[in-house]
Amino acid sequence: MIQTREPGATWSGNHRYAAEKVLLPSDLDELAAVVASTPSLRVQATRHTFNDIADADTALVSLERLPVRIEIDGDRVRVEGLVTFAELAPVLEAEGRALHNLGSLPHISVVGATATGTHGSGLRNGNLSSALRAVEIMDAAGGIRRFEAGEPLFPAAALSLGALGVVTAVELRTEPTYAVTQEAFTGVAWDDIVGDVERVFGGARSVSVFTTWGEPAHDLVWAKSDDGDLSWVEALGGRPVGDDIHLGRIRTVDNTTPRGTAGPWHTRLPHFRADALPSDGDEIQSEYFVPLASAREALAAVRDLASTIDPHLLVTELRTVAADELWLSPAYRRDVMAIHFTWRNDTDGVLSVLPAIEEALAPFDARPHWGKAFTMPGERIRSTLPHVEDFLAAAREADPRGVFRNDYLRRTLGL
Ligand SMILES: Cc1cc2nc3c(=O)[nH]c(=O)nc-3n(C[C@H](O)[C@H](O)[C@H](O)COP(=O)(O)OP(=O)(O)OC[C@H]3O[C@@H](n4cnc5c(N)ncnc54)[C@H](O)[C@@H]3O)c2cc1C
Repeated sequence: MIQTREPGATWSGNHRYAAEKVLLPSDLDELAAVVASTPSLRVQATRHTFNDIADADTALVSLERLPVRIEIDGDRVRVEGLVTFAELAPVLEAEGRALHNLGSLPHISVVGATATGTHGSGLRNGNLSSALRAVEIMDAAGGIRRFEAGEPLFPAAALSLGALGVVTAVELRTEPTYAVTQEAFTGVAWDDIVGDVERVFGGARSVSVFTTWGEPAHDLVWAKSDDGDLSWVEALGGRPVGDDIHLGRIRTVDNTTPRGTAGPWHTRLPHFRADALPSDGDEIQSEYFVPLASAREALAAVRDLASTIDPHLLVTELRTVAADELWLSPAYRRDVMAIHFTWRNDTDGVLSVLPAIEEALAPFDARPHWGKAFTMPGERIRSTLPHVEDFLAAAREADPRGVFRNDYLRRTLGL
C-alpha cells in the first residue's frame, strides 16, 4: 500500500494545492505503479514556487521516500531522488568539487530548480539547468528515458516544467572548488548601476542589486567575488554595510550568509543560510527576464511604475543570467537581466500590479520565471520562445495520455 499525505500549500502559503493527496512511493516500481494508475499527476518537491505549476487535478507524487544517491564521477555528479542544494553542496565540497552557481537559497530541490530554470547571478553564469549533462525521466508508460546533453531532445528534458514525466535522476557538471568573498554595499548611485550594467554585473562572479525603485537608501549592491577583489564597488561610491543588512522592507532576521570573509562557494553564493528561514517568508515572488542589451530601457520602464509598485513591494532584486540552449529557458539564446519582485503576501494586490509591469516589459519580449507569480497570457509567453512547438511535441510524445499536464501547462503552453 503506497503511503499518502495531505498536499498542503506552497512554502509561502500563497497557493493551496487543489490535488486530493500526495502519493509517496518508496521505490521506482511503486513510482511506476503510481504513474500507471493516476489520471493526473504532478511532482511536489520542496514547494518553493509561487503558483500552481506543481498542482494536479487528481494527485501529486513526492520522491521524499525514494532512496537518495549522490555519486561524484570526474567532473559530473549524479543525483537520484529528492535532494536539496543544501544537501548536495557539502558532499561536492568534501570531494573538492563545486557547482558553477547557486540560487539565493539552498533549501530548494535540485530537480525542482533545474526543471524551472532557477538561477543565481553572473554575466558568465547560466541558470542552474544549464549545468545539467543528463536527465532521466519516467514517462507516462512507466519507462525511464535518458537524455544526454547534445541529444536532440535534451533541450526539452533539461528544463521540462515536469511536462515530460517524473525526473528520477540528473547529472550536473561540476568544477574544482573555489572560495568566494562577498560584501553588500550601499551608496552606489542608481544612474551608475543602470548606466553600465555590464560593468556592475560583470564586476564579480555574481552580483545582485536590491532596490525599492525610488528610495536610494534601500539600494544595495551585493557582490560575490572569487578573486576577493571588490574594490570596484567602492570606486563607484559603495560603502560596505557589514552586519547591518537590510533588503528593502524584508524582515531580515539573522538569515544571511557571512560577508567580509572568504569561504567555500556554497557558504557564500546563496544570500540565505541553509539553517535559517530564507527571505521574508510572508511573501509572493515574481520575476521577468529581458535581454541584457535592453536592460537600461526595461529598467526605466519599470521605474516609471514605481508609485504603482510601491504599496505591494518588499524588495526588487536585479541579476543577470547567461544565455543557454534550453527551449523553455528564460535565457534561451540571450543573456538576460532578471527583474525580480518580492511582494507582500497579498494575492489580490500582486495580481493588480502585475499586468502593468508585464505591459511595460512587453516591448522587450520579457519572459516570466516559470515558478513565480505572473499573469502574462500564454500566447504572449509562447511568442517569446522560438522552440515552443518542439517542446510541445516532445511532451506529447513522452506523455500521450496527458498524465503530467495541468491547468498551468494548458494556460501557459497550450499543452
Ligand atoms: C525564498 C525563495 C527564494 C528563491 N530564490 C530564487 C532564486 O534565487 N532564483 C530563482 O530562479 N528562483 C528562486 N526561487 C524560486 C524557486 O526556487 C524555484 O521556482 C524552484 O522551482 C523551486 O523548486 P521546488 O522544488 O522548491 O518547487 P516545486 O514547486 O516543488 O517544484 C518546482 C517544479 O518542478 C517540478 N518538479 C519537481 N521535482 C520534479 C521531478 N522529480 N520530476 C518532474 N518534475 C519535478 C514540480 O512539479 C514543479 O512544477 C526562490 C523561492 C523562494 C521561496
